[in-house]
Order: sequence, then C-alpha cells, then structure tokens
Amino acid sequence: MATIVCPNPQCNQKIQVFLVESGYQGPLRCNFCHGAFLVDIQEGKIVSSKPITEEELAQMQEVQRLKAKFRRG
Ligand SMILES: [Zn+2]
Repeated sequence: MATIVCPNPQCNQKIQVFLVESGYQGPLRCNFCHGAFLVDIQEGKIVSSKPITEEELAQMQEVQRLKAKFRRG
C-alpha cells in the first residue's frame, strides 16, 4: 500500500493505492474529487499523471481486467 497525493491541484488529498509491485502504470480514481487519472507510480511516488475521461477510465479498467484474466489462465 502506498499513499500518493491526488494529481488534481484543487483536490490534493492523499489517496491510498494498493500496489502489487513498487510501481504502477494505469488508471486511478480519486475518491475525494472523483477525478480519473492515468498515473505512473514508481517506488510509491507519482512520476507522471494526466487527467482522463470517464470513458477512458472504463476502457483502461476493462483492459486491466482482461489482462488479469489472461495472467490467471
Ligand atoms: Zn482528488
């Protein structure tokens, strides 16, 4: 578990992120401002982030779900 700061400067809340490894690249939803972001986390810190739309978030989550399924199979 890592604590990162929301990429939205108007929000700036701390978000708990469950990391399987020390890094993570993928979609992230903030529970405070409900913003969706594409983030790159290295060693528990955000190295890059950009806002994405709800549609993009849903698409990326679907891709991740399929990847997880593939890994199990
Ligand atoms: Zn936020």
